[in-house]
Amino acid sequence: MSKLNILGVPIDRVDMNSALSKIVEHMENGDKCVVCTPNSEIVMQAQDNKELWDFINGADLVVPDGIGLVAASRIIGKPLKERVTGIDLMERVLWYCDMNKKDVFIMGGKPGVAQMAAENISCKYPDIHFCGTNHGYFKGLHVGCEGHEEEMAVIDHINSARPDVLFVALGAPKQELWIKKYANMLNANVIMGVGGSTDVYAG
Ligand code: UDP
Repeated sequence: MSKLNILGVPIDRVDMNSALSKIVEHMENGDKCVVCTPNSEIVMQAQDNKELWDFINGADLVVPDGIGLVAASRIIGKPLKERVTGIDLMERVLWYCDMNKKDVFIMGGKPGVAQMAAENISCKYPDIHFCGTNHGYFKGLHVGCEGHEEEMAVIDHINSARPDVLFVALGAPKQELWIKKYANMLNANVIMGVGGSTDVYAG
């Protein structure tokens, strides 16, 4: 899949359909697929945050979630077809999960938010199996607290649920750095940072 380089950050030249196809291909092959949905702000932050840059560079799919990235692609004469926002991509992944009865886990948000989002999503997509939810305010998220037992318990919770898709809603760039740190330990097929999208689903 060809990439567009914006300020040294590689963005996949995907539209919504090809982004979903790539995720589905990984899901059906049982390969891990780490999805990143950067906007211009994240691309700027990656300039002086090597961990964030490394995360984006190593992700299996990096979609252009930001009109600024689409505008930049036009300026450099390699126009991207369209903006692929995280929330729209999440919706398409949910649609696929419903059609194919996949297991989904939502982690992040204030206590109760992920559960409420799962309930609302289930009304629209009844064949998704929500295999778990967890809030995003456990100990371990802050520098110096990594590997705290609360954080390990969240990872155990996710791993025992064995989701096909794990949505991580900690906001950017916290979720990207968290996924980078734990992707190899997580027993989930597709891992995607979704920021405040779960708040939207929770209503
Ligand atoms: N959040 C969290 N744990 C934290 C910090 C934030 O679970 O330690 C959640 C917060 O409750 C909200 C989301 O992360 O649901 C961040 O949403 P925001 O709209 O700020 O993120 P963005 O979409 O802009 O990346």
